Amino acid sequence: MQGLMQDVPLTLDRLFDHAARWHGAREIVSRDADGRVSRTTYAGAHARAKQVSNALRAMGVREGERVATLAWNGARHLEAWYGAIGIGAVLHTLNPRLFPEQIAYIANHAQDRMILADPGCAPLLETLLPQVPSVRDVIFLCDEAGMPRTSFAARDYESWIADQSQQAAWGGFDERLAAGLCYTSGTTGNPKGVLYGHRSNYIHALMTLQVDALALSARDTVLLVVPMYHANAWGVVYSAPCVGAKLVLPGQRLDGASLHELILSEGVTYSAAVPTVWQMILAHLKETKGNLGKLERVTIGGAACPESIIRTLHDEYGVDVIQGWGMTETSPLATVSHPTAEIAALPFDQQVPFKLKQGRLLCNLDLKLTDDEGRRLPHDGKTFGRLKIKGETIASGYFGGEGGDVLDEEGFFDTGDVSTIDARGYMQITDRAKDVIKSGGEWISSIDLENIAVGHPKAHLCAVIGVTHPKWDERPILLVQLKPGESAEKRDFIDFLDGKIAKWWMPDDVVFVDEIPLGATGKIDKKLIRQRMQGYALPFDGTSR
Ligand code: AMP
Repeated sequence: MQGLMQDVPLTLDRLFDHAARWHGAREIVSRDADGRVSRTTYAGAHARAKQVSNALRAMGVREGERVATLAWNGARHLEAWYGAIGIGAVLHTLNPRLFPEQIAYIANHAQDRMILADPGCAPLLETLLPQVPSVRDVIFLCDEAGMPRTSFAARDYESWIADQSQQAAWGGFDERLAAGLCYTSGTTGNPKGVLYGHRSNYIHALMTLQVDALALSARDTVLLVVPMYHANAWGVVYSAPCVGAKLVLPGQRLDGASLHELILSEGVTYSAAVPTVWQMILAHLKETKGNLGKLERVTIGGAACPESIIRTLHDEYGVDVIQGWGMTETSPLATVSHPTAEIAALPFDQQVPFKLKQGRLLCNLDLKLTDDEGRRLPHDGKTFGRLKIKGETIASGYFGGEGGDVLDEEGFFDTGDVSTIDARGYMQITDRAKDVIKSGGEWISSIDLENIAVGHPKAHLCAVIGVTHPKWDERPILLVQLKPGESAEKRDFIDFLDGKIAKWWMPDDVVFVDEIPLGATGKIDKKLIRQRMQGYALPFDGTSR
């Protein structure tokens, strides 16, 4: 016997329709490259998204074709996003911070039909377009006055949509249709395309709205620092419209001062970003003796969150840090570090070790740890193994069949992370499988070392990599970028780590560098660090362990 409830396809256009009808007056605030702030509402953005749909249809864009964006977070980007997916086109978010060759590879692989780009990306497009013949049209997300000079033909977004009707049919297709395409950072090999469906993103949006996930509400003002080109901005492009949270989209200005200004001027209550963003904001606050206004809580993810950020935000600014873990292939949110009842009852100090873990699993998903042969390992908080995940918001393969079959015989996807899971269900990342330091048959977590080292008052950023060692295979070395104007000795960092880590984890060297490079999604770029450190030799014969 079948249930008798209405059978409505879970297509994403319904979420934006809902926002326009029921939260129509809630604001969407954007800042452009010149720093100007503009305002619209869900109802306003929805009407313009319909105009985008009509403009796309007028160009002949059909269901399944890839409409790319090359843009920072802003209202026009959001309108273009829903305008494309509403008619069944696939919104492909290109990351403007990647190298042009990488973007060209990705756009070719995706066979992008057209690109909607921020005007600041014009020079990048000059290099890119000759390499990507599939792109037939370029629209700049600006008005006529803001058009950049280019050697190629392009139109401005405002005149492109101006004559289009604000009525357009959306949806009416299978909920399993592809909605979005996003390529993984490609830290090894070529980037691979993750193809989200309407249904999977719809379910992901509902999952992340739980109180024990992102807990967004109609009372929130969300500063969306995490880029829309990175895994659907952690799904917030879908979840914020569901509940009518005010959206603040900071554009390209992601420095501490600019973000801080928006936090105060817009009354931001919630934000989502990678740890390095908070390091910049905290450095700015320290310098200016500022406060964080109405900010209540932040989700930090994308990379492990250092303890110093959790404590400073809590102790000095009264802001609660919740860590989230996920990846492009997991839509992305999968675990969140909210406290269980018994942990919430503990004093803050005793809660911190759990905040440092990547958290507990959202419903609909399943996790397991295995050894290299695929045998399950215990959830005892000590045994670490390959982290594998399963569920309707997890990739089942890559676009174009790249990478072949990615699921094991039980249907789990191998995340490439090495983790533990404790008896309460808290998952903790030990490392990326390729970053973990294998020393004398045992493993050292580069993440743990970095997070402790960056707590040194003079450290701005820290990175740990393994270097080849004649006796122990690999030994860790610590790279430190000091805060501006600071100086320090190697000894200062060794002394700082002493007593906080196992003796054999102690880095064999401390190297002070001018810059710890960040990758295109704001995470420490270990691949580049390893390239830069090629030819480095340990300073002694290495009997350190
Ligand atoms: P991406 O697909 O670019 O979002 O990268 C996903 C990877 O980032 C994961 O597989 C993890 O290695 C890492 N990552 C994401 N969130 C966290 C976190 N909270 N702590 C540690 N690593 C994280």
